[in-house]
Amino acid sequence: MDCVFCKIINGEIPSVKVYENDHILAFLDINPMEKGHVLVIPKQHWPSLPEVPVDDSSDVAMAEELYYMVRVIAKACIRSFADGANILQCNGEAAGQTVFHLHFHVIPRCKDSSHPLSFDSGHAHYDSDEERAQYAEKLRTAIAKILAEEKVL
Ligand code: AMP
Ligand code: ZN
Repeated sequence: MDCVFCKIINGEIPSVKVYENDHILAFLDINPMEKGHVLVIPKQHWPSLPEVPVDDSSDVAMAEELYYMVRVIAKACIRSFADGANILQCNGEAAGQTVFHLHFHVIPRCKDSSHPLSFDSGHAHYDSDEERAQYAEKLRTAIAKILAEEKVL
C-alpha cells in the first residue's frame, strides 16, 4: 500500500519515534507547527476517524488505546516543556487531511510562542434561527442512525 505512515511503521521511511507499542506509534511531525509536534497513529491502516470499523470489539479497543495515548502525549508535552497542547485531527481533503492514514496531531503550545494558534472562528453565520435548528436536527437524526447501526454504546 502506498501509504507514507505505513512505510514509517514498517521502517521503510525514517522517523523520530517518541512512543511505540504493538498497536500505536507516535513520532515527530516532519513539518512541525511547534517544536515537539507529535503525530499519534494506529499501526492498523484506517484512512480516517469516521472510517474506523466498530463491528469487532478489538478495533474499538484499539481506537480507545489510540485516544488514551493522545492524552498521555499531551500530558507529556505539558509535563516536560509546554504550557498547553492542541489536539488536531483532520478527516477528508475538505478538512485539510493530506495523509490518509488516521492520525492525531498533538501540538504543544507555550505562552511565549511567536506564532500562537488562531482558530479563526466566527466566519460562518446561520441565515436564521430556523436554519440553525435545521442543522441541529440533521445532526440529531444522523447521530441516532449511526448509534442504532453500530450498537457500540
Ligand atoms: P494532515 O494534514 O492532518 O493529513 O497532516 C499530515 C501531517 O503529516 C503533516 O503535518 C505532515 O507534516 C506530516 N508528515 C507527512 N509526511 C511525514 C513524514 N515522513 N514524517 C513525519 N511527518 C510527516
Ligand atoms: Zn497507512
